[in-house]
Amino acid sequence: MSAEPAAASTEAPERRTEPRPGSRLWLRLYEFALVVPLLAWFGFEFVRNPAYVSDPLLLEWVIAIAIVDLLPVPTTVGLPFSLSFPLQLSVALIYPPATAGAIVFLGSTDSRELKFAVPLWKALWNRAQIALSVVIEGWIFHQLASIESPWYVLGPAVLLAGMVGYAANAIFVAVFMHLQDGGPVMGLLREMHVGVFGEFIASYMGLALFSVVVATTFVKIGPWSVAVFILPMAFARQMFTRTHSLQEATVELEAKTQENEYQALHDALTGLPNRMLFMRHLHEAVDAMDTSQTLAVMIMDLDHFKEINDTLGHHFGDQLLQEIGPRLSGVLREGDLMARIGGDEFGLVLPDLPNDAVAVRIAERLIEELEQPLSVEGLALDVSGSVGIAIYPAHSDDVETLLRRADVAMYAAKESGGGFEVYHQSMDQHSPHRLTLVGQVRPGLENREFLLHYQPKIRLSDARTTGVEALVRWEHPERGLVFPDDFIPLVEHTVLLRPLTSYVLDHALQQWHVWARRGIEVEMAVNLSTRSLLDVQLPDEVAGLLQRWEVPARFLTLELTESFLMADSARSMGVLSGLSGVGVRMSIDDFGTGYSSLSYLKRLPIDEIKIDRSFVMGMQNDPNDSMIVRATVELGKNLGLQVVAEGVEDRETLDELAAIGCDLAQGYHISRPIPALEATRWLEQHAPRVRSSEPDDGRPQLHVV
Ligand code: C2E
Ligand code: CA
Ligand code: CA
Repeated sequence: MSAEPAAASTEAPERRTEPRPGSRLWLRLYEFALVVPLLAWFGFEFVRNPAYVSDPLLLEWVIAIAIVDLLPVPTTVGLPFSLSFPLQLSVALIYPPATAGAIVFLGSTDSRELKFAVPLWKALWNRAQIALSVVIEGWIFHQLASIESPWYVLGPAVLLAGMVGYAANAIFVAVFMHLQDGGPVMGLLREMHVGVFGEFIASYMGLALFSVVVATTFVKIGPWSVAVFILPMAFARQMFTRTHSLQEATVELEAKTQENEYQALHDALTGLPNRMLFMRHLHEAVDAMDTSQTLAVMIMDLDHFKEINDTLGHHFGDQLLQEIGPRLSGVLREGDLMARIGGDEFGLVLPDLPNDAVAVRIAERLIEELEQPLSVEGLALDVSGSVGIAIYPAHSDDVETLLRRADVAMYAAKESGGGFEVYHQSMDQHSPHRLTLVGQVRPGLENREFLLHYQPKIRLSDARTTGVEALVRWEHPERGLVFPDDFIPLVEHTVLLRPLTSYVLDHALQQWHVWARRGIEVEMAVNLSTRSLLDVQLPDEVAGLLQRWEVPARFLTLELTESFLMADSARSMGVLSGLSGVGVRMSIDDFGTGYSSLSYLKRLPIDEIKIDRSFVMGMQNDPNDSMIVRATVELGKNLGLQVVAEGVEDRETLDELAAIGCDLAQGYHISRPIPALEATRWLEQHAPRVRSSEPDDGRPQLHVV
């Protein structure tokens, strides 16, 4: 039992453990032995001497004790405690022991009794043990003195009575606990008083003497004296409550301050440290290093996060981000720090490394953990990330430079297709370059620096060219020909995507128009970024361009990668059905590399699948790739879709594809992507002619872009 506060009547605590079998009987006997004889004795005494109970003022004491007991005292320990001890002792000083005991028995009230939270028997026992202590107090006092005695007799008698009464009370409770929960009685007594024994003695003595004041004023001035006690008590309680709430407020304020500080330094979504804490920690860690030690700074960026976020929604992206911390924390050592320093960017500080190789090993394990497929709302997602590593002191001993270099390494990792890269000087030439490139897209569009190359697609059954894929290039004034992989991923996340997409569509359809006038009608395939599906104006725009260049919709194929399928968002599905409403064909590009389930092939308006070139290029060496291509062709046939194999680089592959019944092929072996002029010549030779060239109507023959 935690020590009861001073001035409390000690009450038996609630049971903490199951009673030991066998002890229950002893407990009941003990309770019985205390309650029944006491009550019987009260009865006996009052019958023998009715004057003991005839005074109506006795009721006043009962009520006073009950009021004081019920004044709830706020405590931080959560134990109920009462302040009626001085009143009990006053009663013992004034009245014969039996009367005093009965008053206390009736008056002592535990607020839990009123809520029926204490069993009747337990309540009786509690009251009885307090009453018995008061009886003992009274008996001792009346042996030595009376309330009329001079102070030097009265004082010691009261003190002795109070001490013995308290001791008796403590022993009753200790024996109760012993029978209920076990443990030696002396040990329990000691436990009750650990650390507060001195205070107990002092405060009990003070309160005992105070009870003399209460008792003598009662004897002298009558019932009003009780107010002398209760009123200061109420006042004291008020003060106590106030300090208590003040203390609570202080604790609350402290917690709030801590929380605010926590919030200022942590990311609300993931609970990870934020950029500020990351920087603080990094500075501290670097300051604490000397140059003989190794520290690694890593920057990790999730691959395709924007795509996931844009197509599946923020809710989905958020869940993914929240997953990262728990996933990767297992890889980190104690003392390592991982923070979310940007949207999908995480920073790590790994101090005290034995050497660089350990940093590399940790990065490897981070990536491994990250690449475990993630399931969000039943959808399996492949997650991957790119990690850039910079090492202190090898790459710099300055925090800012280290960070910049980790960032550069991260971009290099991204460029090389994920995984991680350790910073190297040669990387520095790369990154700023990419940034300036984005800035040059808009002027580039205005200056018509973008042009389209066309790569033929041939029908395997007769080797005729049935279509071309338009592939954008950038004739950069300083850099020469820049390929789409170098700028499309940058442009995709900017407002430049729409003008670029419009530009490509416009030029491709214009080219179709030119070819049509020469009697060549082949399918024109144009690539769309997944993000374009969020552009609700796209279907109307496509329809307008088809009309402008007089292209029947069925001649335009839009190629989309599987990632858009994660976009089961209403918006992209709306755009998709809008496009198919216009009548254009839909092709799934890079088929086999995505995440998705196959059910969409039936569900969505799709006409064609393009087996990813990685499988086609591997067909001759890797039996798995060959099998995948075969299975995909089969699947496409069963679903009534046209199947295109892209990346055909040799004769053997072409033959094999023809043998397994693939519809179309595209690849360097047939033709590289070629400029418009060359493409025209190619088509004139290889495309099936619908009709002879239109008679020259005098207009100049255009070779667009
Ligand atoms: P993609 O749609 O998969 O396009 C095929 C890419 O594979 C082209 O690269 C093409 O040159 C290359 N390729 C064709 N045959 C072979 C082959 O036999 N072997 C090998 N190794 N590669 C071959 P390119 O032109 O650099 O285009 C790269 C990607 O850029 C395209 O991949 C496409 O996703 C994107 N892209 C191209 N033009 C556009 C465009 O106008 N808009 C958008 N949004 N994306 C575009
Ligand atoms: Ca494509
Ligand atoms: Ca492709």
